[in-house]
Amino acid sequence: MKDFTIKSAKEALLNRKISAVELTKYYIDRINKYKEINAYITVTAEQAIESAKEADKKIAEGKDLPMLGIPIGMKDLFCTNGVLTTAGSRMLSNFIPTYESTISKRLKDAGAIMLGKTNMDEFAMGSSTLTSYYGPTWNCYRKKSAPDVKLVPGGSSGGSAAAVAADLAIAAIGSDTGGSIRQPSSLCGLVGIKPTYGMCSRYGMIAFGSSLDQAGPMCKTVDDAEIMLDVMAGFDEKDSTSRHAVQTPTPKKPFKIGIAKQYMEGIPEYGKHMLNEAIKWLEASDCQIVEIDLPMTKYALPVYYIIAPAEASSNLGRYDGVRFGYRSSNAENLSEMYINSRSEGFGEEVKRRILTGTFVLSSGYYDAYYNRALKIRKLIMEDFANNAFIKVDAVLSMTSPIPAFAPNDPVVNDPVAMYLCDVFTVTVNIAGLPGISVPAGVSDDGLPIGIQLIGNHWHEKTLFAIAKIIEDSANFQTKKKSLINVCADFD
Ligand code: GLN
Repeated sequence: MKDFTIKSAKEALLNRKISAVELTKYYIDRINKYKEINAYITVTAEQAIESAKEADKKIAEGKDLPMLGIPIGMKDLFCTNGVLTTAGSRMLSNFIPTYESTISKRLKDAGAIMLGKTNMDEFAMGSSTLTSYYGPTWNCYRKKSAPDVKLVPGGSSGGSAAAVAADLAIAAIGSDTGGSIRQPSSLCGLVGIKPTYGMCSRYGMIAFGSSLDQAGPMCKTVDDAEIMLDVMAGFDEKDSTSRHAVQTPTPKKPFKIGIAKQYMEGIPEYGKHMLNEAIKWLEASDCQIVEIDLPMTKYALPVYYIIAPAEASSNLGRYDGVRFGYRSSNAENLSEMYINSRSEGFGEEVKRRILTGTFVLSSGYYDAYYNRALKIRKLIMEDFANNAFIKVDAVLSMTSPIPAFAPNDPVVNDPVAMYLCDVFTVTVNIAGLPGISVPAGVSDDGLPIGIQLIGNHWHEKTLFAIAKIIEDSANFQTKKKSLINVCADFD
């Protein structure tokens, strides 16, 4: 059962080498054994076994479904009927939804078995999973030079990433507002894709930045990500921003890959080395490398850190201690109840975003900040359309400027430094484009490094095809066996 992928597990299930119940028990045992990784906020063991029995029945009847019998982790941002859904926050520490998100429903309908709800930065705000009310999640990988120091898995979908990397699930679901699928995938040696905005329904996904949020798969291989995204994608009448079935264009070879000088500036040596390696692999597979210019890139971070908090401040207005969620018991009147519920229910980072968002939307500053950010957002979209995708099929960059880090790393205590780590990922959400992170290698200190491919709207198939070239050449599945992995005993 060691280190199954969706593909290999399905084969084993369909050939009756293993049953879904055995497979599910294996993962539940591992989750219990490696509790200290803290990948899950809630483990739904009993429900999982029940679903596994159902899956075994279907297999016995000769039925086949894309995810039949596959145990997965679900970011605790997706509402699951009857199962605690916290968004990593004290504010929702008592919230049991009475409905199911479209994404979790689609996966369950396709036969997937939910092992539990994975840990995350509070309301998906962060890049470390250190801001969760439920404590940090840990990366199973450690530095060669400091094998005793625990490292973060990235964030905000850190629980999902840690779960898959540590083999506490075969695959998992994340959400990405500015990099939260891709960055943790990069730090944990996984494939993670943020699809085109509108491809996956946002119904039942707790909102952060509604014009930026997308769900996506986090898997061990590109093939797995493709299988899973296929199940997740599709129109949903419950989400007016989800798109009717679109013909995703078939990849056309030879691929042209854009290298933007803006994405090469200021990156560390190992990053340059990694990208140069990737360029060599792509050229060896008949891809053509094209230099491109994306001059609006420098505005992406400020634009993101205006639009995302603005939308968050509005989305999080609903948590007032009245309708659902946490209510402070220490209040003498209504207004104190609102204030204390929000003050006690939200953590530091969430409060920082609400304050920033409220400020940029306030009447005196709306035009100067929010409106201007929207205008630049348009220019960033045009930049991609006019300077990239009329010339190339995909743009190559690092996913994260740094590999996995420790909680005492200076970057953690400096919110602006932390925001700067999102430099390569946020543009993709601003422009609604698909972006995939693929494991490309290992740092000198033995940590996974991912690189990102950005595609044109609805060109996910092209991204998968190019990502496979990198995956095959990088051979990370073999390389990862020599890394320090504290969960590596797969018995
Ligand atoms: N790290 C980014 C932030 O903190 C992205 C988060 C996300 O994609 N949900 O906002």
